[in-house]
Amino acid sequence: MELEYGKKEVFDAETASAMMKELRDAFGNGKTKSFEWRVSQLESLLKIANNHEKEIIDALCSDLSKPELESFVHEIALMKSSCKLALQELKHWMTPQKVKTPITTFPSSAEIVSEPLGVVLVISAWNYPFLLSLEPVIGAITAGNAVVLKPSEVAPATSSLLAKFLGEYMDSSAVKVVEGAVPETSVLLEQKWDKIFYTGNGRVGRIVAAAAAKHLTPLVLELGGKSPVVVDSDVNLMVAARRIIVGKWGCNNGQACIAPDYIITTKDYVPKLVDALKLELEKFYGMDPLNSEDLSRIVNSNHFARLKKLLDDDKVSGKIVHGGQMDEGILKIAPTILLDVPEDSLIMNEEIFGPLLPILTVDKVEASFGMINSRDKPLAAYLFSNKKKLKEEFVKTVSAGGLAVNDTSLHVAVSTLPFGGVGESGMGAYHGKFSFDAFSHKKAVLYRSFAGDAPARYPPYTPAKLRFL
Ligand code: NAD
Repeated sequence: MELEYGKKEVFDAETASAMMKELRDAFGNGKTKSFEWRVSQLESLLKIANNHEKEIIDALCSDLSKPELESFVHEIALMKSSCKLALQELKHWMTPQKVKTPITTFPSSAEIVSEPLGVVLVISAWNYPFLLSLEPVIGAITAGNAVVLKPSEVAPATSSLLAKFLGEYMDSSAVKVVEGAVPETSVLLEQKWDKIFYTGNGRVGRIVAAAAAKHLTPLVLELGGKSPVVVDSDVNLMVAARRIIVGKWGCNNGQACIAPDYIITTKDYVPKLVDALKLELEKFYGMDPLNSEDLSRIVNSNHFARLKKLLDDDKVSGKIVHGGQMDEGILKIAPTILLDVPEDSLIMNEEIFGPLLPILTVDKVEASFGMINSRDKPLAAYLFSNKKKLKEEFVKTVSAGGLAVNDTSLHVAVSTLPFGGVGESGMGAYHGKFSFDAFSHKKAVLYRSFAGDAPARYPPYTPAKLRFL
């Protein structure tokens, strides 16, 4: 009987263990380790993106009303460039890295061999459901692992598209998709994996970490947080405003893990900043943003209610200075700016993950860094400034998964930079070579010959030998 792992109704413990056996066999017979297999699987992923662009865009539109340009640039193009980079660099990444040896092991040579970990699990999130599913899969394959992908059930069209196309294009003995929600994920988490790569919120991250601990399974947790933007008063205001807008509302209408969560600026500068943001927002999304096709909708009614609750909080009443319109029927919320919200309001105490942007004010911009560091470490932090000293201070003192100076979100597209969180925003990192490393064991290998057999290392440990050492 052929098992239908992808179908929710048949995915129970028995099915899972049969699937694991098949994957272990595929990994055990060594096929995933070969250069040729890795290349063929990466090429198949590229074919999926090339041959089915329209279906992918349609699925993202169905799940999130994601604008076509965002689907193409943020999901398809980034995924393709990761595949291409991996194909281009694979030989180099797989080549053992020669390292120096100390005089104490003379004569010897040594190298670091990147070894695949085995059978790995990728659990992904709904907001960039195509990219966040396939980017870690690319890493797993590049490093020579067998892999199971569990896409998010909150983006059902993309989840079923991934199950269909990975089933059709990939080597099904070593690359599998399991669709489903909590029950299916829980069954998956009971299995023994060689690595778990999870993207999502910290509450579930803890569930994943606890399951991984049972088997001492290493894991990467790609979580979120409240990513701040500090705006100094000496900036090119319109450029700064546009770059804040595009990193916030131009990324899935704020439903992005590195979207600006709140702004800190000075009391003197805030009126100018608010005016610039309003002006540019109106240029981008018009006077009726709820009907703009360039803004994603809120993913579902649960998240809509969660965001509405943040605005219904008494502590932020009267604080909206722009936007605030919402239409539950079409799950749309307009770009909304709030000014001087109290630090103990709901909106300042959980990740917003939506189109609301509070602005806090300080007397001096230098006070911002302490405010950021007094909170959980965010996934990203941004500074807009022309002051060399302030930029240096920002990089030196602010702890976050990643930083960008005079822009927002763009660091995610730099494949030579690791992408990941720190503290509450996660652990481990990926992208480019870091993805290969995340799914590899770095095996230390020392080579010696039979020459140079120093008697000093062998007993009896005489005083003369101690002096020699
Ligand atoms: P989600 O609801 O899609 O959940 C993520 C995954 O966890 C899904 O596959 C889901 O099936 C699974 N899951 C949910 N509940 C579970 C449970 N009880 N047991 C086992 N598995 C379970 O996504 P989300 O958590 O709403 O995603 C938003 C969060 O993810 C935000 O905090 C955001 O910042 C973060 N995020 C981080 C990154 C990153 O790269 N660091 C990217 C995107 C999103």
